[in-house]
Amino acid sequence: MKVSVVKETAPGERRVALVPEAVGKLRAAGLDVLVESGAGDRAWLTDDSYAEAGASVVSRGEALAADVVLMVGKPDDAIVQGLHAGQVVIGLLAPLADRELADRLAATGATAISMDMIPRTLPRAQPMDALSSQANIAGYKAAIIGAAEFGRFFPMLITAAGTARPAKVLVLGIGVAGLQAIGTARRLGAIVSAYDVRPETRTEAESVGATFIELTSVGPASGEGGYARALTEDERGAQQEELAGHIARHDVVITTAQVPGRRPPLLVTEDALKAMAAGSVIVDMGASELGGNVAGSAPGQTTVTENGVTIVGAGHLPSTMPAAASAMYARNISGLLLYLVADGELALDPGDELQAGVIITRDGAVVHPALAPPAAGPGGSSPPANTEGSARVPGAAS
Ligand code: NAD
Repeated sequence: MKVSVVKETAPGERRVALVPEAVGKLRAAGLDVLVESGAGDRAWLTDDSYAEAGASVVSRGEALAADVVLMVGKPDDAIVQGLHAGQVVIGLLAPLADRELADRLAATGATAISMDMIPRTLPRAQPMDALSSQANIAGYKAAIIGAAEFGRFFPMLITAAGTARPAKVLVLGIGVAGLQAIGTARRLGAIVSAYDVRPETRTEAESVGATFIELTSVGPASGEGGYARALTEDERGAQQEELAGHIARHDVVITTAQVPGRRPPLLVTEDALKAMAAGSVIVDMGASELGGNVAGSAPGQTTVTENGVTIVGAGHLPSTMPAAASAMYARNISGLLLYLVADGELALDPGDELQAGVIITRDGAVVHPALAPPAAGPGGSSPPANTEGSARVPGAAS
């Protein structure tokens, strides 16, 4: 069976789905690995390094003709048009946020498997959890960006030229990325506080060295599957107002509440920004085309407010660390692929809970239960898009 890696085409995407180390593992399982020439260039992985690991370096056309096509992100239009029945494409397809892509993939007859739909609570799925591996990288990089943009030190420094007080860092959202941001800021010597609507995150935050901030105006908001539930409009307003006081007392704020496909919850309002001291920095990991966790943030843009607050719209951070992100993603995707293969061939079993979680299209139809067509009738509708503060869409891509 031929398994290929194609060069990613999304703007700014520097990751690649397999690294040479993973090629060896797939070859050992009896798979032929094809790598599109130049696929690893932007992660400093040369064609030669793939060839040395046993892959065939091929043209784009040959890569796209393989039985299984491995990707990081979504296939572009040209790739989708070239897919056919009998082929399998695996990537971070974000089908809950991009239903239209799921429909188009189904129309090709190919089997589409989405890495971001892996049931994260299944112990056997944890080595395949690309959302976590990429969020870890994003959280680390967010803390590094915060330190780089901040005009003072993170650690306390006592020198002959004077003493620098440690920076006060606030992390909003204590999921995988938030925990890594806390740990990284702590290792740089900052004093770190953190807040999340899920009270169970307190012990996790404390275990990596943060002080947990409890808001008196908003009650617990844990939802299903370890995610937050949607806040009501009143709760959102109360949360924003109470948070503003805490935000103003910090030098660097890192926001991590991402709700892909929907507008991320607004945690830092215009008023909160105005109350911050000049020289403060905000790194908004929730920055997206739909808006971010911070008023006025935009993905890929750094702006400075009139009162001197630097806002970094830090979307797509894993791609800025392509070597680490590709290595981790390669372990995730090859772990899933090997789980789906028996005796060198794909052995799909939709009765298996993990497989049922990741298979999006099969035999010309969208088959994932979470993507069932909207119920007909007056009450039937799709999940609300672009809803501020809504609960996490489990499995949506970071
Ligand atoms: P995420 O990226 O969806 O969100 C990040 C954090 O933002 C979450 O902790 C969420 O509670 C928080 N948040 C959402 N709205 C907020 C608001 N209005 N104010 C403040 N905070 C808000 O989350 P994630 O990092 O993908 O993980 C979420 C959960 O999944 C965690 O509990 C994590 O431990 C769990 N998880 C479990 C497994 C497993 O069981 N194997 C694997 C991965 C993740």
